[in-house]
Amino acid sequence: MNVREVLEFAKKNKVQVVDLKFVDLIGTWQHFTIPASELTEDLFKDGSGLDGSSIRGWRAINNSDMLVVPDPSTACMDPFTAVPTLSLTGNVIDPISRENYERDPRYIAQKAEKYLQSTKIGDISFWGPEAEFFIFDHARYDQTGHSGYYFIDSEEGVWNMGQDGVNLGAKIRHKEGYFPVAPTDTQQDIRTEMIMEMEKVGIAVEKHHHEVATAGQAEIDVRFDSLLKMADKMMMYKYIVKNVARRHGKTVTFMPKPIFGDNGSGMHTHQSIWKDGKPLFAGKDYAGVSQMCLYYIGGILKHAPALAAITNPTTNSYKRLTPGFEAPVLLAYSSRNRSAGIRIPMYSPSPKAKRIEVRFPDPGCNPYLAFAAMLMAGLDGIENKINPGEPAEKDLYDLEAKEAAKIRTMPGSLDEALNNLEKDHKFMLKGGVFTEDVIEAWINYKRTKEVDPMRLRPHPYEFFLYYDV
Ligand code: GLU
Ligand code: MG
Ligand code: MG
Repeated sequence: MNVREVLEFAKKNKVQVVDLKFVDLIGTWQHFTIPASELTEDLFKDGSGLDGSSIRGWRAINNSDMLVVPDPSTACMDPFTAVPTLSLTGNVIDPISRENYERDPRYIAQKAEKYLQSTKIGDISFWGPEAEFFIFDHARYDQTGHSGYYFIDSEEGVWNMGQDGVNLGAKIRHKEGYFPVAPTDTQQDIRTEMIMEMEKVGIAVEKHHHEVATAGQAEIDVRFDSLLKMADKMMMYKYIVKNVARRHGKTVTFMPKPIFGDNGSGMHTHQSIWKDGKPLFAGKDYAGVSQMCLYYIGGILKHAPALAAITNPTTNSYKRLTPGFEAPVLLAYSSRNRSAGIRIPMYSPSPKAKRIEVRFPDPGCNPYLAFAAMLMAGLDGIENKINPGEPAEKDLYDLEAKEAAKIRTMPGSLDEALNNLEKDHKFMLKGGVFTEDVIEAWINYKRTKEVDPMRLRPHPYEFFLYYDV
């Protein structure tokens, strides 16, 4: 929709208020609401004000006035409000210079799309994220005051909050949620309701299903789209998933590894580059991909240890990246192997369907930053002809130690990933897509607000191990 069309759409839907949304650095949707009388053509030029100092990872208090300038292409009716509400997502700009704010994730995504075009390698990139998540009856945690550790629930001192996967007394085994029919699957109707809300706001869905973790893990796959559009859709996707669950008195988490001993939640990200309406990843090399695609893979694998700080950005992310749970550990690629960091799907022989699936990202990431960073790594691979090495055809979980030692791995912790990003981020600065300021702000936020606080707190499992020393 353009501005005119949005104004008509609002009238037709008897909109009473307009919800203005923007994305913070970490990837949370933020919003404020204005009356419909404020919805004018000028709103799309002048924007509407907010105090940026209260937003995580953003400005200092003495320099905090900012504007949200809505993007008409994001217009839709908000599915969860009591009165007809138009939802608009926007860019954040400085009211004086009128320039885009360099820590606005949407702006970074927009610059990444422009950078691709400036290289002449391609004119558009396509993204198909497969976000997984858990639906729980309630978040059963108890943060005990200042010490802030979790309620110890099981005899092993592990906080374990799954209560789905329990059918009237019979507890279903871990890792067997994929995908028996009801009554083992207790969440079919709620997932259907989620995809129906998605279709209403223009998100095309390909399928929904129960995932492998038994304790109520779900996956909804949406049809691919271009980078910024798909990142925008992922914000709406999470919003719908969480709020439909809420309607039913349930709660959803996208944290990558909520349950010990069961699969975690990934966000495999399918990606490809096109030019003049032609797919550039299809070709005659390994598994029907092009040389360009192999270089793109080379770039992603080379920079993966640093990318992890963006694509796997929580301390919890590294509890998922362990062998035996369908999450990748080794930095290799393969057409068959789901244990490799990158897979080349073989579902369809059509060149149009040729893409790579990067398997390490998780849904705790900020999609704007994650897509932009992966694109920059892949383009770096193409520009510098980075050879990805031989494909790995064996099950990488079962490799002999000697063989496995030859393959690089994902980092073992967020701390390690942030150190890697500090050393390796030049490839992200090209075309001004990411800036030193953003990288520094990200690393600083993650270290001081997440890594250090986690490191300082006694963990429940430490009580199990050490209480009686
Ligand atoms: N849940 C797995 C992961 O953490 C992925 C399962 C699948 O292949 O979809 O990546
Ligand atoms: Mg899955
Ligand atoms: Mg997948």
